[in-house]
Amino acid sequence: MAIVKATEGAIRVAAEHVREGQLVAFPTETVYGLGGDSTNGKAVAAIFEAKARPRFNPLIVHVADIANAKTHAEFTPLGLRLAEAFWPGPLTLVLRRRAESDLCDLTSAGLETIAIRVPDHPIAQALLKAAGLPLAAPSANRSGRVSPTQAAHVHIDLGERVGLILDGGPTAHGLESTIIDATGEAPVLLRTGAVPAETIESVLGQSIIRAAEAGDKPQSPGQLASHYAPEARVRLGAIDVHEGEALLAFGSDVPATAGPMINLSATGDLIEAAANLFAALRALDQTGTDRIAVMPIPENGVGEAINDRLRRAAAPRS
Ligand code: AMP
Ligand code: MG
Repeated sequence: MAIVKATEGAIRVAAEHVREGQLVAFPTETVYGLGGDSTNGKAVAAIFEAKARPRFNPLIVHVADIANAKTHAEFTPLGLRLAEAFWPGPLTLVLRRRAESDLCDLTSAGLETIAIRVPDHPIAQALLKAAGLPLAAPSANRSGRVSPTQAAHVHIDLGERVGLILDGGPTAHGLESTIIDATGEAPVLLRTGAVPAETIESVLGQSIIRAAEAGDKPQSPGQLASHYAPEARVRLGAIDVHEGEALLAFGSDVPATAGPMINLSATGDLIEAAANLFAALRALDQTGTDRIAVMPIPENGVGEAINDRLRRAAAPRS
């Protein structure tokens, strides 16, 4: 049984696990999170794999305090006011990502913004401090199932996919964090959650824009529009390379090509491929090629999310 009582010793072991790139489930004040090192592409790919998420939607980064958050995000005056008023707590801020941040591309799904928060739970806090790493931690359930508010729920849902579950009893809110886009001057509500919008409005003395009214802001940030899309046209399922194409390869059986080529995983490892995907698309784009051929990628495990991303990249654009 992977469930352990969250003693100091167990938290130290869990911190060691995440530093090694493994996944650990832990309680926050909202729900149990499935945590992994958000600077490690393979760890974040393993989160998508374990949850069987069919898409690479951006994940929330959890850090121990504001000082740490400032190393990853550009704080607007609005962001700072919100952080000071509600952190630690169940409020997630979307802010511009700092160039110096070492978060991996997969954490933010290639976006230029990140979602970040400081959880208010002693076990989450202790784990973040012991690990000394920002943790990506979506709810610790299989995609489409309800969020776990007890360690046993995590075990029932994810079983051996998570190496260690820190048991801290039932979580307090059982509701996800509220997400506010604080990149501009006016707060935009992206997701309702444990902090009521009215509470935020009264603290700020300013009204919140609902994402639906915000026009160009995508309501569901997992959507294509805001994600990195290559400039080049993308051809999927390529088993050979046409004249002038760059190649995004997968596996060991790669067709000969004189053009630019990046292999997502020479050993055919889907987790490795997911970890490399966003950087590889960017790098091929930067070669100046106007066409990218992509080899077939199996649809199993995290391959589904990889193919979802690639299909969007290949979809006709207006
Ligand atoms: P979860 O971690 O599963 O609780 O959900 C993360 C939520 O945060 C999703 O709704 C994401 O779409 C949202 N999110 C994460 N990063 C961003 C971002 N950079 N911009 C907007 N929303 C984000
Ligand atoms: Mg969830």
